[in-house]
Amino acid sequence: MSVLDAPHFHDEEAAFAKLESIVWPNGPVCPHCGALDRIYPLNGVRSKASKKNPEGIVRHGLKKCGHCRKQFTCRVGTVFESSHLPLHKWFQVAHLMCSSKKGVSSHQLHRNLQVSYECAWFASHRLREAMRSGALAPMGGAGSSGVTEVDSTYIGRKKGIAKQRGTAHKHAVLSLVERGGEVRSVHVENEKASTVVPIVNANIAREARVMTDDALQFENKLDDYAEHGVVNHSAKEYVSRADPTVHTNTVEGYFSIFKRGMKGVYQHCSEKHLHRYLAEFDFRYNARSALGVEDEARTEKALRGIKGKRLTYRVTDRSEPSA
Ligand SMILES: [Zn+2]
Repeated sequence: MSVLDAPHFHDEEAAFAKLESIVWPNGPVCPHCGALDRIYPLNGVRSKASKKNPEGIVRHGLKKCGHCRKQFTCRVGTVFESSHLPLHKWFQVAHLMCSSKKGVSSHQLHRNLQVSYECAWFASHRLREAMRSGALAPMGGAGSSGVTEVDSTYIGRKKGIAKQRGTAHKHAVLSLVERGGEVRSVHVENEKASTVVPIVNANIAREARVMTDDALQFENKLDDYAEHGVVNHSAKEYVSRADPTVHTNTVEGYFSIFKRGMKGVYQHCSEKHLHRYLAEFDFRYNARSALGVEDEARTEKALRGIKGKRLTYRVTDRSEPSA
């Protein structure tokens, strides 16, 4: 049996039941007044043709709150609200995005799922929003490996700047990876110490060992940490000879997945949306198999993130047709 045979990928009723179990693990919650009880189903047999519903359209997952008398489904107050995409197709999009290590393009979603390209583009951006974590706990502290690697890379091309030698025409990305743990990536304006050091300080516990390459912006700037290990990339040293635990190979490995995905799958990405692609790659890395999270659990984790987030931009805001 294929994983795609599961009923929630095909049947709308099953898709609602599945999403409810994910976003309401302890039973339904009224999104209007927060009530946890006196919530009644209105779907199925009750929605037969009536004055209010003359065509007898079945509204899956529809509920009514006995406290505020308002109606809702589990889509209300999530990134799925005000989307016309059937819920079972949302499950297909989420599964494809969460099970493909380098992502899946909107063109491919458009062809495979038989939805319009615009719809596929919006659906994937809404799911990227769901994947955004906003984690604030310091990295590399107690209970972790205690080692965090920091490095930056360049991707894409800035609008209106010609391709040139060096990196001035590209977008800079700073990533912090806890060995054996999670990654946090940020799109940064530049690589100056005044830009990147505060980000490092805001995200890494002082008791951590921090590893960087010999980039000048970090020189003497990370002395407050338990250790600032430096690997001398400009001398082609990739693991410190003095201490083999000093290297940035973990963050380099993360960049290699990110770049292969961005170049191979997404190809173009405007600056405005770069943070969303970073959220997607960070999310998959932080819910990777090596941490015991497999495809289905990863998809459910992404879907738990749909709550309380909205995307407000419209089709006309799409500055360039990408991915
Ligand atoms: Zn209510």
